[in-house]
Amino acid sequence: MAGRLRVGIGYDVHPFTAGRPLVLGGVTIPYPRGLGGHSDADVLTHAVMDAVLGACGLPDIGTLFPSQDPRYEGADSLHLLEEVLRQARDRGFRVVQVDCVVVAQEPRLADSLPRMRQNLAARMGLEVDAVGLKATTPEGLGALGRGEGVAALAVALVEPWEA
Ligand code: MG
Repeated sequence: MAGRLRVGIGYDVHPFTAGRPLVLGGVTIPYPRGLGGHSDADVLTHAVMDAVLGACGLPDIGTLFPSQDPRYEGADSLHLLEEVLRQARDRGFRVVQVDCVVVAQEPRLADSLPRMRQNLAARMGLEVDAVGLKATTPEGLGALGRGEGVAALAVALVEPWEA
């Protein structure tokens, strides 16, 4: 069985923009700016989805949920995550574990991490300790360091699964 475990990686970045809520891991974080994007721009959940899809050998979220498609305008990314999990199951996989990092100069995310982690775990049917989540700052370096946006990275482990 161990030889059939598969891993995937996901990375996403969205720019800050005025007049939108900041949603990370399904949690709306008090902050004057949110992230721009076609859906709710939940960069963390997007990275998780791409990690799961990659582990399952499925196309990325840009292919599954095209930004030109009006159905996904303002979409709740946790709902998109559920669709990704459905596709993973159809493909014969279930998620065992994910581990993630959010890269943001601001705001400070430490207080929100437990809720973000719980949200992701609940949507994936995982124990909370199967979802790793950290936040780090880019130490002022580059566009992220100037607070122009937020990036997220995730890895996912999946295993074969039969309904
Ligand atoms: Mg995205």
